Amino acid sequence: MLSFFNLISDYLYDGHSRNHEPAANVSAFMPPASKPPIPQIYLVDEDEESDDQGEDSRCDENFSDSATDSLEAIVSDICACKACDLSATRTNTVPGEGSTHPLVLVIGEGPGADEDAQGRPFVGRAGKLLDKMLAAIDLSRDENCYIANMVKCRPPGNRDPAHEEISSCFCFLKRQIILLKPKIILCAGRIAAKSLLKTDKGLSALRGEFRDFAIGDTVIPVLCTFHPSALLRDEANKRPAWEDLKLLRQKLNSPGEG
Ligand code: URA
Repeated sequence: MLSFFNLISDYLYDGHSRNHEPAANVSAFMPPASKPPIPQIYLVDEDEESDDQGEDSRCDENFSDSATDSLEAIVSDICACKACDLSATRTNTVPGEGSTHPLVLVIGEGPGADEDAQGRPFVGRAGKLLDKMLAAIDLSRDENCYIANMVKCRPPGNRDPAHEEISSCFCFLKRQIILLKPKIILCAGRIAAKSLLKTDKGLSALRGEFRDFAIGDTVIPVLCTFHPSALLRDEANKRPAWEDLKLLRQKLNSPGEG
């Protein structure tokens, strides 16, 4: 009965469903509190070249607006896409999945081996950690998040996606953002953060505060944090990542935001 009232109140509020369960056990992904202070180490090359991606001209023919577009059309365009060399080596495309009316759109880098095999985003070890991170702040891909990637096909050998690959795939992400209308975008990792915000700043400069992503006449708050793979490689990053997640939760809880 209570959940029925919650559903109705969410619907009346802004149409975005929220998780009304108590927060999951944070220790599932946080290091023990007794650990020594965490050094501020980030897996970022601050001297990297600019990620200027031009005007997405290769995407123009695919681009449409929310009046005529649909998530199904985007999936079908992604499946048919041969705009870059990643199409030659993919097993499956990985368009994305989750709530079609999400509070949060999570953007990763690109599919790895598990995702390529299954056609689903974040299903490997990093994905399991991502699910725990989201659960720690009452979010999940089943209820109130959509999970997508900058590129929809696996870069061979899990290399970083190239600028041209990100650029030619960006139209799909833009179309997803327009249709999904997330309250907040969470960029997981350096590649997603730099590519979405079109900056050559490193993750250490981008994380820890909200930034704006403008699309049409809408501005969506973006929070950048560590990629779950980076957290698996270096536990020390879990504490600042947790700070980011708390910011995200705070923003979703603040009046008029979540
Ligand atoms: N890493 C990503 O960035 N995306 C996935 O879907 C899986 C791993």
